[in-house]
Amino acid sequence: MKIIVTGGAGFIGSHLVRALLKEGHELAVIDELHHYYPPERKKEQLEFAREAGSFVFLKKGLLTDDEEVGLLFKKFRADCVIHLAAIPGVQKSLTAPLEYVDYDIKATVNVLKFSGETNVKHVLFASSSSVYGDLPNSPVKEEMAAGRVVSPYAAAKYGAESFCHAYAALYGFQMTILRFFTVYGPWGRPDMAIPGFIKNLIRNEPITLFGGGTARDYTYIDDCVGGILSAVKSAKGNQVYNLGSAQPISIEKVADTLAGHFPDAKVLRSGRRVGDVNFTWADITKAKRELDYSPRISFEEGIARTVEWAKSYEK
Ligand code: NAD
Repeated sequence: MKIIVTGGAGFIGSHLVRALLKEGHELAVIDELHHYYPPERKKEQLEFAREAGSFVFLKKGLLTDDEEVGLLFKKFRADCVIHLAAIPGVQKSLTAPLEYVDYDIKATVNVLKFSGETNVKHVLFASSSSVYGDLPNSPVKEEMAAGRVVSPYAAAKYGAESFCHAYAALYGFQMTILRFFTVYGPWGRPDMAIPGFIKNLIRNEPITLFGGGTARDYTYIDDCVGGILSAVKSAKGNQVYNLGSAQPISIEKVADTLAGHFPDAKVLRSGRRVGDVNFTWADITKAKRELDYSPRISFEEGIARTVEWAKSYEK
């Protein structure tokens, strides 16, 4: 297949690009190397992706109806577009909400428009567990998202989902919305908890747990990428899927698992941060049934692999 991946220099994007190349797809990647975390790191992630093969790369932003981006869509004639580009993260969205309106909504509308105008058959959009807001401690099904968001990031993702539905109706392309649940692994995003904890522990610095008693459904990167690949192949019609591991892990268990690798770990505690939710827990019945999605990597195994990678990277 001919596939355009936006945000392909990012954490999930670079792993996805590698996996798609290994499956023999022809790729074009668009990424502006946004400074949310160092662009140098994104260049390294692009190199990591390139180890698996070659692809067209366009360093361009998706915020404007850019001529070069439009030209790439016209020339490349993709069968499928996987739209990952966004500014992620809840905390920054509290101080810079308008950037999220631009990067997570406006850029998505441009991608949907370019896709429709160039007869793309299938568009996939990276949404987030944050659209469920603060639900009680039980697994969330796809239809439980309406109107519960508690951060500008979540609001932007939920708004972008609405544009996805609208443009699928306007242009008739197939639309798949994938809601990711806290993805971690090698090349994990530096602003996220697990990569930050491991970096501190390698440097013998303390880690701070925000919000005792909270839990997250953590998804190992290979499982997340496996879910995206399954959706490219097997998704039918216009659908929304949770891609999580269906196992919430408490913040205390995260600290204990890491302490297994760093016995001298010093753990500090602080209150829950505004905008963060207490609990995430995916019901993945629909993705299992319709995409044959099946997360395989246990939390312990995923952490062991991530620590091993981080130790070699931080050297
Ligand atoms: P990332 O920041 O590593 O990757 C995003 C990439 O998009 C970056 O390389 C950035 O330069 C690029 N980008 C951003 N805005 C752009 C624009 N306007 N034009 C061109 N390029 C642009 O983040 P990630 O963790 O790999 O996340 C990928 C997607 O998955 C995002 O949409 C994110 O919201 C979503 N998501 C991630 C997680 C997670 O746990 N990592 C969870 C839920 C949802």
